[in-house]
Amino acid sequence: MEEIIYNLQLSENKIVPVHIERKNIRNYYIKISPDLNITVPVPLKMNIDTIYKFLNSNKTKKWIEKNINKFQKAKEENIKDDLINGGTVKILDSQYIVYIYESINDKVMLDGFNIYIYSKNSKDKDYLQKQYNEFLKEEAKPYFQKIINKFLPVFKKYNVPAPALKVKPLKSKWGSCRPATAEITLNLHLYKASAECINYVILHELTHLVHAGHKKRFYNFLEKHMPNYREIEKRLDIEAGQILC
Ligand SMILES: [Zn+2]
Repeated sequence: MEEIIYNLQLSENKIVPVHIERKNIRNYYIKISPDLNITVPVPLKMNIDTIYKFLNSNKTKKWIEKNINKFQKAKEENIKDDLINGGTVKILDSQYIVYIYESINDKVMLDGFNIYIYSKNSKDKDYLQKQYNEFLKEEAKPYFQKIINKFLPVFKKYNVPAPALKVKPLKSKWGSCRPATAEITLNLHLYKASAECINYVILHELTHLVHAGHKKRFYNFLEKHMPNYREIEKRLDIEAGQILC
């Protein structure tokens, strides 16, 4: 099978590779897989210019764009809490399958990679989300606290007090720090990220107890205690796009 990779320009700064495959078929067509692979099977003897013309038509480009967006959106939504039977939620970078039951008492349980939500209002989406957030907070807070405690010896010589920890859902940031009151607030959704990213956010916020703002001294301190912090920051940006919305 002969294959040509054609770089199709969708817009000024968006080029996508299209795999043109010669095959023993009668008509050409186009398909996009969920991993965004674009393929065009083409009859063996067909003139390639016809295919290029087809790909470069506005209609085809629009169709490709639409489907790329569709698959990208599906991927992003996959990482949000999907509190329906058979849906998934993310905890510490792992995916759990959701099972929901109507019950006289509210209870959430993890077993393997399954999460069982027993709820007094199993049909009420907002209620379920609230119930799940409470569960997540109960799990996240001691987890975050443990990491804070692990880092505290590093800060001993700077005379910083043990900070008070708050955990709540935030829309646009992973955490914040108020040095004046030694208070650290962490995003509840941070508990969905990887352990490495959580470590980074906590060290970042703790560092603000010593260095306000993001000047060179701040980053020197971070680097000293987490030499690969730049790499983790990059990963966090990607996870932020998936978790924060
Ligand atoms: Zn900061």
